[in-house]
Amino acid sequence: MRIAVLAERAAGESRVAVTPETVRKFLALGAEVAVERGAGETASIADADYEAAGATLGLATQVVQGASIVLGVQAPEPNLLAGVAPGAQVAALFDPFTHGDRVQAYATAGLEAWSMELMPRITRAQSMDVLSSQSNLAGYKAVLAAANQYGRAFPMMMTAAGTVSAARVFVMGVGVAGLQAIATARRLGAQVSATDVRSATREQIQSLGAKPVFVENVAGIEGEGSGGYASEMSEEYQRAQAELVSSHLAKQDIVITTALIPGRRAPRLISDAQIATMRPGSVIYDLAVAQGGNVEGSVADQVVERHRVTIMGYSNTPALLPADSSALFARNLLNFLSAFWDKETGRPVLDEEIGTAVRLTQGGTVVHERLKG
Ligand code: NAD
Repeated sequence: MRIAVLAERAAGESRVAVTPETVRKFLALGAEVAVERGAGETASIADADYEAAGATLGLATQVVQGASIVLGVQAPEPNLLAGVAPGAQVAALFDPFTHGDRVQAYATAGLEAWSMELMPRITRAQSMDVLSSQSNLAGYKAVLAAANQYGRAFPMMMTAAGTVSAARVFVMGVGVAGLQAIATARRLGAQVSATDVRSATREQIQSLGAKPVFVENVAGIEGEGSGGYASEMSEEYQRAQAELVSSHLAKQDIVITTALIPGRRAPRLISDAQIATMRPGSVIYDLAVAQGGNVEGSVADQVVERHRVTIMGYSNTPALLPADSSALFARNLLNFLSAFWDKETGRPVLDEEIGTAVRLTQGGTVVHERLKG
């Protein structure tokens, strides 16, 4: 059974879906792995490393020939997959609620699409969860990129020439990315505060040595909500949050925003008027820019300035750390396929719960509940 991996073609995508380590493990399962020449280049993996691990290398058209499984970071366009085995399974990021046309094209081509971002947030799927592995790195990199842009230092420094005060970092949205952003900013010596709508994050913020900033007079989301995710907040909550954030923001040097609501536009957390109150030279990194942005005026893949505040908006922050993000993404894919590997048929057979969650297309039709119709 052949697993095919193509070089990523999306602009700015520097990751790759297999590493020499995962190639070896797929071979141990009895699969054959074919990788497009140059696929690992941007993630610092040479063709020779894949060959040494036992992969065969070739052109895209050769690699997909007869493949039963295709792995990608971003889902390849179906026209690149001519020649795969009938009903071949493709595991990658599909962004299915934005790219419905591509999902339909997969169905029409008779391919079975497995959308890695729809992996359920359950304990046994944690090792397969690409959103977590990539958000973790994104939270780290966002702080480093903001620190690099910032014209002042992060830690307090007492020098013979005088004292440099510690930077004040505010993290908005304390999921996987936000927690890593807090930890990274703390390691760099900043004074960190953070906010979320889920009250369960208060203790997590404190345990990382940061100060929680919470709306106290209107109920937020207790516990973990559905699948641990946030939902859209009431207007009353949004007003209270805006007031609280306004007074806090004016005193911050660096703001990292990470707030997302699954299947919806990212909530707007910072307005242009609020940016105008910040100290000149402050930096905002909007990790939600690809989902519409938490910050008014943030632009995907651009660094813009408003009121002498820099707003950074990379749409694919994990791709700024391509070697590590590829290593973790590739392991998530390996963990996913190997957990369901059927020794008799030598291919993965998904169980009901995870299959229903990630499968978008099968047998020529769109089968995912949220996409049907
Ligand atoms: P996410 O990327 O969907 O959102 C980031 C954060 O933004 C969340 O904490 C969310 O509550 C917050 N947010 C949303 N609206 C906001 C607003 N208006 N103001 C402030 N903050 C707002 O979240 P995530 O990183 O994917 O994590 C979501 C949850 O899933 C967490 O509880 C996490 O611990 C849990 N999780 C579970 C597993 C697992 O069990 N397999 C894996 C990963 C994450």
